[in-house]
Amino acid sequence: MTQLSTDIIIIGGGVAGLWIHHRLNDLGYHAVLIEKHSIGNGQTLSSQGIIHGGTKYTLNGILTGAASAIADMPQRWLDCLAGSGEIDLSQTKLLTQHQLMWSTQSVSSKLTSFLSSKALNGKMQSLSKKSYPDIFNTAAFKGNLYQLNEPVLDIPSLLKNLTEKWQHRIICTNEDYQFIETTNCLINGVISDTFEIQAKKVILSSGEGNEESLQKLNIDSPKMQRRPLQMVLMKSIKLPRLYAHCIGASTKPIATITSHTHSDGDNVWYIGGNIAEEGIDQTSESLIKHTRFTLQKILPWLDTSDAEWTTHCVNRAEPAQKNLLRPDTAFLADAKNIAIAWPTKLALTPNLADQLIHTLKEQSIMPSSNDGSRRDSELEKINQQHPVVFSPSLWDRAFDAKS
Ligand SMILES: Cc1cc2nc3c(=O)[nH]c(=O)nc-3n(C[C@H](O)[C@H](O)[C@H](O)COP(=O)(O)OP(=O)(O)OC[C@H]3O[C@@H](n4cnc5c(N)ncnc54)[C@H](O)[C@@H]3O)c2cc1C
Repeated sequence: MTQLSTDIIIIGGGVAGLWIHHRLNDLGYHAVLIEKHSIGNGQTLSSQGIIHGGTKYTLNGILTGAASAIADMPQRWLDCLAGSGEIDLSQTKLLTQHQLMWSTQSVSSKLTSFLSSKALNGKMQSLSKKSYPDIFNTAAFKGNLYQLNEPVLDIPSLLKNLTEKWQHRIICTNEDYQFIETTNCLINGVISDTFEIQAKKVILSSGEGNEESLQKLNIDSPKMQRRPLQMVLMKSIKLPRLYAHCIGASTKPIATITSHTHSDGDNVWYIGGNIAEEGIDQTSESLIKHTRFTLQKILPWLDTSDAEWTTHCVNRAEPAQKNLLRPDTAFLADAKNIAIAWPTKLALTPNLADQLIHTLKEQSIMPSSNDGSRRDSELEKINQQHPVVFSPSLWDRAFDAKS
């Protein structure tokens, strides 16, 4: 058994754990991340990669908490992508700088005037016909088209980029491990058959996995909620690239579409929004039928005759809210020397890391003096047995599994 002492243990290799791991190691902490399956395996590789700036959450005309907390995030991520932010994400692929938003013809005039109102100034611009992307460059399109300051990221490249610099401090293991509890009921490490790691602080950032850990640790609060989604995927070589929310009369998008590349070169549309929220109780076949019908209404000129279809069920894991509402901000709580974290949106991860760094300072948990290389050589022994493994992209999993 290899024994090691570190500053911080981070549980979970989704975007939250990886971002926190990167930032803490950059700040001089010795932080070790433990992932149970493979990097990105949870919600992160199921996400659409949109760095929301809040526009979607202002559709009812009210600037909600979600909209104001998230407003700074696009610029923060763009700085990172440019190599000038708190993490160098220059190797992460930017799929588009701007998500679009289009309205169907039947949209209410109230919503149309709101969309053009000052509340969204600077975050959203109405597009003139001459700057329409090809897919909307048809006489058949009668709605309005807006451009949002919301970039969309390629998540597999983000995960590689976040992992690379401090990969030697990441362990991927499917071996069972237990938390180590001190006599005064605080948690100060983890132990398995092959390793024991002690730390000043443990961070639970394992998405849906947080619930099981909290139960094992007899921590009653915070509680977790799951918001289930059934996303729709459509694959075809002929599909144009589209990154857009389609809005109708409701405050929620009818569909949110992002475009991705399968390893065989085909384009894949990944469709969320209301389709995915309302589709949870449908069979995959009936949701695909419903989505085909919806696309015919909102993009009637689009030819999908040769497309392959599938659906993907996944839960959003979040701190429990009244009536399963969507939480507004990144979430961090503390119990038994454990920090419990849910970013609630990938876009809010930088905000989550800020909160955590602030908490560590408040609790006087500082980086220890320079024995990082001694610790790293111990860690290397664990690493050799439990090397870093990346999950394949969702598009490859979804369609390869079908054929
Ligand atoms: C369909 C969908 C679309 C989304 N689209 C967007 C979007 O466009 N923009 C946006 O901002 N947000 C989006 N989100 C939300 C976003 O994906 C999540 O908020 C974010 O990915 C959560 O990251 P996480 O690291 O907390 O959790 P996860 O990504 O779920 O990662 C948790 C990790 O912990 C591991 N794990 C679990 N249990 C244990 C354990 N006991 N020990 C060790 N490891 C463990 C898992 O294997 C997993 O790798 C979307 C979510 C969904 C479901």
